[in-house]
Amino acid sequence: MHAKWSAVDEYLVNTLLPADPVLDNLLLHNQQSSLPPIDVAPNQGQLLALLVQISGARKVLEIGTLGGYSTVWMARALPEDGCVVTLEADAHHARVAQENICSAGLNNVEIRVGPAADTLPGLAALAPFDLIFIDADKPNNPLYLEWALKYSRSGTLIIGDNVVRDGEVTNPESPDERVQGVRKFIKMLGQDPRLTVTALQTVGSKGWDGFTLARVK
Ligand code: SAM
Repeated sequence: MHAKWSAVDEYLVNTLLPADPVLDNLLLHNQQSSLPPIDVAPNQGQLLALLVQISGARKVLEIGTLGGYSTVWMARALPEDGCVVTLEADAHHARVAQENICSAGLNNVEIRVGPAADTLPGLAALAPFDLIFIDADKPNNPLYLEWALKYSRSGTLIIGDNVVRDGEVTNPESPDERVQGVRKFIKMLGQDPRLTVTALQTVGSKGWDGFTLARVK
C-alpha cells in the first residue's frame, strides 16, 4: 500500500501545490547534511500554512525544528508582523535550519537551541501564542501540552504530529515510549474541558500516521 499512498501524495502535491525551488533546496540541504527525512510532507506543510492563515495567527510556537521545513511553511504564511519561535535540541539540526531559513529569505523565525523542557520556561514574555505545533520527542508530548496550554489564549490552535504511529497508538501495552507518550497526550487532550479536539489518521509519502488538532475554548 505504501507505494500507492506515495503515488497519490505525489499526484496531489504536483497537481495542487505550486513548484517551490526554495523548499526543494531546503530538503536537499537537509539530506546533504545527513538530517533524517522526518519533516512533514508538502501537503501537510501547506495544511499548517493554511491553519496559520485561517486562524489569523501572528505568533507561532513550534517544538521540534529539524531542518526548518515546517517552520518555513508556517513563517511564510504569517502576516508581516508575525513570527515563529521554534525549539530544537540538536545543535546540528538547528544550524542546518538556520541556514535554510536564511536561504529562504525569512527574518521572522527565531530558533532556540536546547531540550524544549529547558527552553520552554523562557518563553513566557512572548506568550500567548496563536498556534502551537508539537513535533519533537513524543515521550515528552504530555509535558509539551501542559506548556502549550500555559502559553495559549482563547482561540489558540494546538497541533500534535505523528500520533498514529502505524496504528500502534491503540496498543496500551506498547513498550514504545513514544507510543505511550502519544497515548497520554491524547488522553489529556480528550479530558481537558478547556479544549475542543479532533484527530485524523493519514496515509501518504510518510506512511500511516496522523495528527491532533485542538482549539482552546
Ligand atoms: N517539524 C519538523 C518538520 O516537519 O520539518 C520535523 C521535526 S522532527 C519530527 C523532530 C525534531 O525534534 C528533531 O529535529 C529532533 O532533534 C527534535 N527534538 C528531539 N527531542 C527534542 C527535545 N527534547 N527538545 C527539542 N527538540 C527535540
